[in-house]
Amino acid sequence: MDALKKARTACSTSKYILENAEPGEGQKNKHQGSRETPNGCVNPAGVCAGESTSKRRHCSYSEDDVRPWLPMVTQCDAEDEESRCDKKSRTKEGQVLLFYKYVDLADPADICEWQRELCRRLHLHGKIRIAREGLNGTVGGALISTQQYMEAVMTHPYFTDMNIEDFKTSQGGHDSFLDGLVVSIHQEIVPMGMDPMLVSFKDAGCHLTPAQFHEEVQRHRNAKEREEKTNTVFIDCRNFYESRIGIFPDAITPDIRKFSYWPEYVDKNEAVFADKKVLMYCTGGIRCERGSAYLRSKGICKEVLQLKGGIHRYLDQYPDGFFRGKLFVFDNRYAIQTNQDVIAECFHCSKPWDEYEPCSSKHCHQLVLSCPSCRTSGLTTCCRRCAELALDYASGEDGKTKTKKRKEECTCTKNRERIPVEKLDSSSACSAIKVDGVKPCRGTGSTRDVQS
Ligand SMILES: [Zn+2]
Ligand SMILES: [Zn+2]
Ligand SMILES: [Zn+2]
Repeated sequence: MDALKKARTACSTSKYILENAEPGEGQKNKHQGSRETPNGCVNPAGVCAGESTSKRRHCSYSEDDVRPWLPMVTQCDAEDEESRCDKKSRTKEGQVLLFYKYVDLADPADICEWQRELCRRLHLHGKIRIAREGLNGTVGGALISTQQYMEAVMTHPYFTDMNIEDFKTSQGGHDSFLDGLVVSIHQEIVPMGMDPMLVSFKDAGCHLTPAQFHEEVQRHRNAKEREEKTNTVFIDCRNFYESRIGIFPDAITPDIRKFSYWPEYVDKNEAVFADKKVLMYCTGGIRCERGSAYLRSKGICKEVLQLKGGIHRYLDQYPDGFFRGKLFVFDNRYAIQTNQDVIAECFHCSKPWDEYEPCSSKHCHQLVLSCPSCRTSGLTTCCRRCAELALDYASGEDGKTKTKKRKEECTCTKNRERIPVEKLDSSSACSAIKVDGVKPCRGTGSTRDVQS
């Protein structure tokens, strides 16, 4: 059995017990009393005075359990802050955080419960994935709440070596997350579909600062301009619908719909990576951690380098640098803008357009690029079939046909190759790599997961 199959089998069979248990169930905070309580981090009021006990009951923690790493704020304070202004200024004054930490967690359920309580008190919305390998999250809310959140996280014993730089920030708020707050326990903090015991964050590629990365990209570009052979494979490990609206123009952009296809993509394209220096990036750096570890586990690359903090950090330092277009984000904002370039086009008329909206068909999860004039003429679905299904669905609501469940993939995405094979043009090494054959489908992926 090859390494990939072995890892996948292990991943599907060796589920952590916690994954099936209600997070926090029967757990006690093992840190309680065993470590120093950080100063100024105790909530003297316990919980917001207006809160009912029934609302608190789902949480198996007592107030004492979680106190050490909760900030001195009540849910009411955060809500006051939120209600002071309307939705627009709330988003303008609010903030969205994106962060992750790979660390061996002995007690994911404890961390889960702590995060739930912390976010609840600070009135933060967002998505947090917890696993034995660490924590991956994106949360949004009032500026003061996100600041207190960061401070609280950094005082927790597992996360004391995190610093403010580890939290990527952007304009937004708790309205950026339509599903409210989702804190959940998984086997991996970003779903690559590989057992973390077999492909560990500990084997990740070398981190480059944005400045070092910028230099590498510059070198790669210079070599390309001089039509020299380059020994570098510059690759974006995000999904195709993310790179569609924003890219480092010289990078290979795999036509993959989700990150769990990355290992197979690497396997199918070993020749592209063989003996090369790989320069990779993603949104906030997390996918590169184990994505690079997988590449390294193959033992075929000369060197694997990853952008620390991802495009997010790069843009902080180089808002008008090599990255062009918008940065796709997995929340209701869909994208963050730092330059004016529009690199994508309307699905229907091919005019430049890069603002995603969900397919208007209620059964479908795809994101659609439809320019204002196409929208006005009713082109709001991902494809014609979806528009027809939308009609079926509408009649279903009248009770004539059965209501259909929303699908992650539309029929229009079925003809796309799951794992594309990159073609290596020997005349100019990796600079001439083209995506093979089939025209990429217009369809997109689901945005329901937290990735960065
Ligand atoms: Zn159009
Ligand atoms: Zn659709
Ligand atoms: Zn479709």
